Parts: sequence; structure tokens; C-alpha cells
Amino acid sequence: MNVWVDARRCQGHTLCAMIAPDHFVLDDIDGHASTTSPAVAAEGAERVRNAVRSCPEGAIVVDESSPNGSGPKGSFS
Ligand code: SF4
Repeated sequence: MNVWVDARRCQGHTLCAMIAPDHFVLDDIDGHASTTSPAVAAEGAERVRNAVRSCPEGAIVVDESSPNGSGPKGSFS
């Protein structure tokens, strides 16, 4: 699984970082989220899925089919 944050949608609600702090970090300046790494290990996958479901902006993008680490790092805009 790979995960990214769409910077165009993220509004800095912080829910993702509270639910899956190993996978999401918030920018000190604007509070927007990015991923610590696109790769999600199997043990972290359910927390990331919970973060996806909790994001009110639909800003978290998950690719369940891609090999870990094959996507862009952090966020995209
Ligand atoms: S929950 Fe969604 S909108 Fe809020 S910081 Fe995370 S990605 Fe951004």
C-alpha cells in the first residue's frame, strides 16, 4: 500500500496525524499534512485506512495495489 496527501484539498484538520502519527506529519507553518513515507507496512495499514475515512476533505489518497514506496513522497499539489 502507498499513501499520499493531496495538498490542494488538505485543510489541516490534524485528524490524520492523531490517528496515524507514524505516517502523517503536519507542517509547522500552515498545518497541512504530508506523509512520512509513501510506503505503508502491513501493520500500519489499518491505521492509515482509518485516517483516510476520518479526513473530512478526502485529501488522503491510497493505492492499495502498488508496491510499497513506488509513489511520490509526502504530498502532491
Ligand atoms: S485529516 Fe485530511 S484535511 Fe486534515 S490534516 Fe489530515 S489530510 Fe489534511
